[in-house]
Amino acid sequence: MQSWLPPDVPTLPGNSRPLRLYDTAADEVRPTAPGATARLYVCGITPYDATHLGHAATYLAFDLVHRLWLDAGHAVHYVQNVTDIDDPLLERAAATGASWSELAERETELYRQDMAALRVLPPRDYVGVVESVQEIAEAVAKLLADDHAYRLESDIYARTSSSGHFGYESRYSREQMLALFAERGGDPDRPGKHDPLDALLWRGRRDGEPHWETAAGAGRPGWHVECSVIAHNRLGMGIDVQGGGSDLRFPHHEHSAAHAEALTGQWPFARHYVHAGMIGLDGEKMSKSRGNLVFVSKLRGAGVDPMAIRLALLDGHYRADREWTGGRLPLAERRLATWRRASEAAAGPDGMALLTQVRDRLTDDLDTSGAIAAVDRWARLALEQVADGADPAAPALMARTVDALLGIKL
Ligand code: ZN
Repeated sequence: MQSWLPPDVPTLPGNSRPLRLYDTAADEVRPTAPGATARLYVCGITPYDATHLGHAATYLAFDLVHRLWLDAGHAVHYVQNVTDIDDPLLERAAATGASWSELAERETELYRQDMAALRVLPPRDYVGVVESVQEIAEAVAKLLADDHAYRLESDIYARTSSSGHFGYESRYSREQMLALFAERGGDPDRPGKHDPLDALLWRGRRDGEPHWETAAGAGRPGWHVECSVIAHNRLGMGIDVQGGGSDLRFPHHEHSAAHAEALTGQWPFARHYVHAGMIGLDGEKMSKSRGNLVFVSKLRGAGVDPMAIRLALLDGHYRADREWTGGRLPLAERRLATWRRASEAAAGPDGMALLTQVRDRLTDDLDTSGAIAAVDRWARLALEQVADGADPAAPALMARTVDALLGIKL
């Protein structure tokens, strides 16, 4: 599937430190340790509606991971999927009378435009499920042949016990898993399953639903296995970061990892599992069911500078659940204007010192608030022209720093 055009990323002088990130599986902040090519997989959208600020905040967090690895001299192989066939898409299409494939195409295109406007670096492989049905089905057929899966009527389920490590990613108790599985699209109560937590790998053909003829029979893939296969076939096992929103910690990431591990006999699927917090509005999580979504495209349509949206979403720690309050956007617009004026000053305080501070803050589990505060201090001094030994090259370096590492084009 076509990705979107990449923004320019300026190169910066000096050296960066290794990126440290909180790993959900290890329950600690620890260094990422990629090879020459860092491997990143982030779960993509189900394109039945426009990109809201919660989605945008998640993709921005992983965009910083991408940028920090580039700054450290790695190539980055970034893969993202599009769940362009799944129940929510079919339900929305049926409710609105649209064709599911046209709906998916339209919303995926809007997502590309939102990501490009927010200066998010595109994945190298942007992969739809529809275009990957055969490779996913081959993996499902192999799981079945290896007895890591079983048939239930026309469907196929994975054996949760197969990977031998189930539960390590989320670290939830069985009781928590059962509750979350029921809440987030699982079917713990379906009669005939060997374990209530077993996940659907393959949904057999149903009347009135799209299906494909494959090695796993006629039907379509389950949600978790699509990510296992799309990721593994392009990145191999032990990928450096598997990312997504905190609502994917269970069941999605747990099952995706378990499926890939059962399929390959290798462990782990990913070396870091990284989760971004949720964005709330008026004290509630932003979600479709609550009808309280703020869309990136609506804000752009109203003339809001995408760089202000980006700056507003980065003002707060990526792992924290954050509120989108009315004051956030005006604050970001004022900050952006100040930074722009400062970047045009005749001189400013030491630009290398600022670059070091921004690198140090961001490589410490993406401390964006700390990085933004460092730029604020630099900008105030540059505009007050009070710095001793002010450097005429510093404003240009500040602009490059903010562009390369925070993705903010001044
Ligand atoms: Zn996924």
